[in-house]
Amino acid sequence: MTRMTSSSRPLLNRRLAEFGTTIFAEMSALAVRTGAINLGQGFPDTDGPEQVREAAVRALRDGRGNQYPPGPGVPELRTAIAAHQQRLYGLTHDPDTEVLVTAGATEAIAAALLALVEPGDEVIALEPYYDSYAACIAMAGGTRVPVTLRPHESAVDGVVDRRFRLDLDELRAAVTDRTRLLLVNTPHNPTGTVLTREELTAIAELAVERDLLVVTDEVYEHLVFDEAEHIPLATFPGMRERTVTIGSAGKTFSFTGWKVGWVTAAPELVSAVRSAKQFLTYVASGPFQYAVAEALALPESYFAGFRADMLAKRDLLAAGLMDAGFEVFKPAGTYFVTTDIRPLGAELSHEGDGFAFCRALPERAGVVAIPNAVFYDHREAGAPFVRFAFCKRTGVLEEAVSRLKSLA
Ligand code: PMP
Ligand code: GLN
Repeated sequence: MTRMTSSSRPLLNRRLAEFGTTIFAEMSALAVRTGAINLGQGFPDTDGPEQVREAAVRALRDGRGNQYPPGPGVPELRTAIAAHQQRLYGLTHDPDTEVLVTAGATEAIAAALLALVEPGDEVIALEPYYDSYAACIAMAGGTRVPVTLRPHESAVDGVVDRRFRLDLDELRAAVTDRTRLLLVNTPHNPTGTVLTREELTAIAELAVERDLLVVTDEVYEHLVFDEAEHIPLATFPGMRERTVTIGSAGKTFSFTGWKVGWVTAAPELVSAVRSAKQFLTYVASGPFQYAVAEALALPESYFAGFRADMLAKRDLLAAGLMDAGFEVFKPAGTYFVTTDIRPLGAELSHEGDGFAFCRALPERAGVVAIPNAVFYDHREAGAPFVRFAFCKRTGVLEEAVSRLKSLA
């Protein structure tokens, strides 16, 4: 029962009333309760490089970061982040004024929205959207305006490519006089889509034309496969001064529990985001900041090896899911595969209801997945899609595939 105050007012305020427990907590708890393989919440089941872990141990022992680190982040990490953006993308940032370290990308998203959005502002987000976007837009008093990515099929030389695609006309039509910012995510969770140069060019042109701010969540920047290329929005003409770029060590170095993220942007934008951030955590993850500074300087062979490992896992899980009867949208990026459950048949797919399917799957097949519908305002548009994470050991993925094949 919901507890009421004496005035019968619900305890949870109106802005948050629609947000219950996050789907990740719900599904991970279900995995623990049923002993099922957890391909729901996106976290690796092996830790990142030993030398990075050792760097954290060294920092702890040397007493670096055991007390409050500086508000913007330790200088070593800010310098390493700036060097990373320069090395990979040719983007130049002043580590003192244009880089801000946050408690994971989650805090960066929250601080950016709380800083830049006034009550009543509209924020356009690509739907399906990562769940914290909706909650943070709401906490900022903004109105979210989803633009839906839709499945699209094309054939090149007889090879069929299925991906979720952004409808640029729909995006343009979504902009109104109240639009304050575009919230972009590429590589995209949960669909695995990596926005193309053409799509990013169009987003950039629209932002410049309508004078919009852009917050771009690029936490999967190192997880792009095949011919796909990650191109930061900040590199497009007119974007450097209006874009807040968000990164995270969690995904790239497989230490999701360390919660080290960052923002890179023009000084005025970083300063605005810092104003909000200082009253959220103020600072976090002291010793881990030093370790991530070392991690960002790892040779290219680390990043290439990580990508190759994840690519093999993607192919294993994608092929297995196809054999098990799912329609698979092979991801160009991230460590998630989105599937359509309808080909499994009306009964098994619960009439194409991803929620019912995911709630039943642990008992039925000993596997946990995430219903993409939770990432949609247009729930019906996301109903038949279910997301599986492949950032798990090969043996775990093989066992999951064999269990899923037994469904049919
Ligand atoms: N953005 C996206 C798209 C994510 O998938 C996640 C979760 N991994 C985050 C942000 C949060 O990242 P962090 O763990 O660094 O807070
Ligand atoms: N980003 C992770 C995912 O999409 C989950 C992070 C979280 O639990 N909030 O699975």
